[in-house]
Amino acid sequence: MNGHCLCGAVTFTSPEARDIGACHCGYCRRWGGGPLLAVHCGPHVEFQGTEHIAAYASSSWAERAFCKKCGTHLYYKLLATGEYFVPAGAFDSTDFRIASQIYIDKKPHYYSFANETPMLTEQQVIEQYGPPGDETAA
Ligand SMILES: [Zn+2]
Ligand SMILES: [Zn+2]
Repeated sequence: MNGHCLCGAVTFTSPEARDIGACHCGYCRRWGGGPLLAVHCGPHVEFQGTEHIAAYASSSWAERAFCKKCGTHLYYKLLATGEYFVPAGAFDSTDFRIASQIYIDKKPHYYSFANETPMLTEQQVIEQYGPPGDETAA
């Protein structure tokens, strides 16, 4: 699967993946202005134009990256596993499905998705995926 940032300076290739995790946490909303719709791509995502990528350590366990030229968000990466979560909109394909919604208890009232998916609260995310800390989503 191929994708690129808005200006084209960064391109990437990911193994096949179809599942989007929607994150409603406050970090993702502040980062992107709305919920993060990210494809769980695993650790084997290849980026070209890496000199144009800025990576920001949003917590001690994860980083978020963006294109320095156009600001397109490129990934959320778990440092412990090297797994990439790439915004669905950056891919050329739209053949995805929202598989789950996390931090549903942090979702503000001004929007909600009609998609019927499993929904996990912050506490349930911590119980299922293990706690890097209190602010697990940063
Ligand atoms: Zn760009
Ligand atoms: Zn989040």
